[in-house]
Amino acid sequence: MNERARERAGAGQVCGVRVAQRFSRVERSATVALLETVQRLRREGVAVLDLSGGEPDFTTPDAVIAETVTALEGGDTHYTPSRGLPELLGVIGEKLATENGVHVDPATGIVVTPSAKQALFTALMTVLDPGDEVIVPTPAWVSYPAMAGLIGARAVPAELRAEDGFRLSRQLLESRLTDRTRAVVVNTPANPTGHVLDEAEAAQIVAFAMKHDLVLIVDEIYEKIVYDGHRHLSLASLPGAAERTLTVNGFSKAYAMTGWRLGYLAGPEPLIAQALKVQEHTVSCAASFVQRGGVAALTRAADDVTAMLKEYTIRRELTVTALNALPGVTCTYPEGAFYAFADIRGTGLTSAGFAQVLLERAAVTVAPGSAFGAAGEGYVRLSFAASRDVLEGAGARLAGLAGEWPEG
Ligand code: PMP
Ligand code: GLU
Repeated sequence: MNERARERAGAGQVCGVRVAQRFSRVERSATVALLETVQRLRREGVAVLDLSGGEPDFTTPDAVIAETVTALEGGDTHYTPSRGLPELLGVIGEKLATENGVHVDPATGIVVTPSAKQALFTALMTVLDPGDEVIVPTPAWVSYPAMAGLIGARAVPAELRAEDGFRLSRQLLESRLTDRTRAVVVNTPANPTGHVLDEAEAAQIVAFAMKHDLVLIVDEIYEKIVYDGHRHLSLASLPGAAERTLTVNGFSKAYAMTGWRLGYLAGPEPLIAQALKVQEHTVSCAASFVQRGGVAALTRAADDVTAMLKEYTIRRELTVTALNALPGVTCTYPEGAFYAFADIRGTGLTSAGFAQVLLERAAVTVAPGSAFGAAGEGYVRLSFAASRDVLEGAGARLAGLAGEWPEG
């Protein structure tokens, strides 16, 4: 298929062979595309300083690697039960109860998935029919609306405002409700804004979901990365929430395990029973030896997580300070996750324009806020899951631009 034919196929049209119409509503992942752009530029010899990707630069904790190698060498290379290895289900159940106040039966209330992405897709697939709507507070990570689109459903944005600290309100949720609304996606700590859900906000979300009989799909993948005494709160721990909440988590961020593809979905047994069908008819199970690594992560890598958080805290300071020194740019401290979400409206550039200037004139890559929905326009996302050297180098290059932003 040539390039033009491929484009037409992407628009859902016939070109010799047909592709599904759903692709007219789904773009490629902007964040994955950025990761690939950086890899390509590096192959071409460009000394890119990459602040675009949400990928920890740390190595996976030793205990996880050792356990996985042992599993591989011991011949642990076959299918596991589709829900996951009983030992891993057990430690996840224990972790959810003790750390999150979320109580599920490990035998029936959890599915271990190959990535949090797969867990989210499974959750949306479990709840949404074609034509249904899911409310997604924005700016939001790029894949929620795309996943809804792949299912034939529609993500309805609830635009959050920086002036409100990117907090979600009952009023905003009510204004996005229609008779097709089935679910709300909540991401805390949030990518890209760094906002950490607080108790008052959580209570409003749960009350809204209870009143309208909606499912809450809660992505907690950044839960271990919180700053300044902020405390991660699991929605499913609130009174009345457990029976309507699907909690998603994964190992990519907390344990620097992006390439391992490991996550999980937890919730009430009747919903998980349906989710299991998605798992069994798509991927069967997560990789057996990777699941053994997951057990080690949850039981023997707490010190690694603490060390990474300490380092992220230093990097956050470096990043926010460098950004605030730039003319036309302001940045508040993210409460959680590892992204600075900087307000660039003072530069007169669009977020895509700003990202382009940084790439062309400083070989620094950042994610334009517009990738995270219209509410992200005027902002850029910088990931500080990069080494201090990279962050300092990028800071120096940006300072070297001396605030000379081209006409927007
Ligand atoms: N949720 C959010 C908010 C993310 O930023 C990411 C990053 N890729 C994921 C889910 C998916 O994580 P993974 O598929 O690597 O487990
Ligand atoms: N979640 C990361 C990001 O937002 C990694 C890329 C992706 O999986 O979307 O950049």
